[in-house]
Amino acid sequence: MDSSAECVKVAVNIRPLITPELLNGCTDCITLVPGEPQVQIGTHSFTYDYVYGTSGSPSVAIYDDCVDPLVDALFRGYNATVLAYGQTGSGKTYTMGTNYSGEGSNDGIIPKVMDTIFRRVESVKESTEFLIRVSFIEIFKEEVFDLLDSNLTISKGEGHVGKAIVPPRVPIQIRETVNGGITLAGVTEAEVRCKEEMASYLSKGSFSRATGSTNMNNQSSRSHAIFTISMEQKKITMCSSGGNEDDMGDDILRAKLHLVDLAGSERAKRTGADGMRFKEGIHINKGLLALGNVISALGDEKKRKEGGHVPYRDSKLTRLLQDSLGGNSKTVMIACVSPADTNAEETLNTLKYANRAR
Ligand code: ADP
Ligand code: MG
Repeated sequence: MDSSAECVKVAVNIRPLITPELLNGCTDCITLVPGEPQVQIGTHSFTYDYVYGTSGSPSVAIYDDCVDPLVDALFRGYNATVLAYGQTGSGKTYTMGTNYSGEGSNDGIIPKVMDTIFRRVESVKESTEFLIRVSFIEIFKEEVFDLLDSNLTISKGEGHVGKAIVPPRVPIQIRETVNGGITLAGVTEAEVRCKEEMASYLSKGSFSRATGSTNMNNQSSRSHAIFTISMEQKKITMCSSGGNEDDMGDDILRAKLHLVDLAGSERAKRTGADGMRFKEGIHINKGLLALGNVISALGDEKKRKEGGHVPYRDSKLTRLLQDSLGGNSKTVMIACVSPADTNAEETLNTLKYANRAR
């Protein structure tokens, strides 16, 4: 498909100042260059594939520019990945629409992905049979957990008192097939036939996602959440088609789309919590660090041509996404930032990370 570094696109999404920031007297520290995908903060200036500013509703444009081509790729049999990166509170979950429950606001990428998929399935259902499945997992402290496991009651963090005993969550093993495909042993793969059904699994999984409180935000997510839509397509062979027998008739086209709400990118030291939290922070950074290295290696054309080393094995996150990052697959990273002056340091870290990915 694409030949060059084109396989990874990077967008920056700047959310508006939110009420708590306005109440604290925060000011906007980001400058946009009109008509250019460029961001300025202090003396730094960065250029990306796309930049979405603080005015208007960027979600339609983000979907159209960045995500719709990936949904199209999915239908054409290519794996694809959308990644939302940024510090806690920067708008990752809002932008992805990870908390969409099937009702209310249709904002966010995931509800739009669902709409598009089922509209397209509907439009070609006379000629194509579809099998669509979803899985929803999280990576927490370098372990993979099934968010759709029906035995799973909400698991509260250690130290939480007064809670009935819940079965311990059993981590899932990542396996590699002979063709280099990645599978998760025993993960729930729920078949879905409509948007509402798909949304119900998204909602169920979002609810079981581990959360914990830190100084940054008491709903802080310290896990990577990966909602995966996998699709199998089979052409329906027409018996009375008078034309040539179609030999491709029995072939099944398979592909998957990962929608990833990454853990907060803030540095562990900023959580300022007890030793346990700090350790979690370090583990999360391991995934984000490895992801940055993988994406940067993929963008390095020289390395790619020489079949150079892409360090997928350095974290669970990159290992799990291995067959959907690089190669023929399409990837979009959406770096989410707050415009508040009080977040300037983390915003600059995010912009640097995204710049490296490009
Ligand atoms: P994260 O998932 O990165 O921690 P959230 O998506 O939870 O961040 O967003 C933090 C807060 O900012 C939430 O209250 C959310 O509603 C608000 N927010 C995020 N993006 C926007 C936006 N584009 N417009 C308005 N509010 C937003
Ligand atoms: Mg979030």
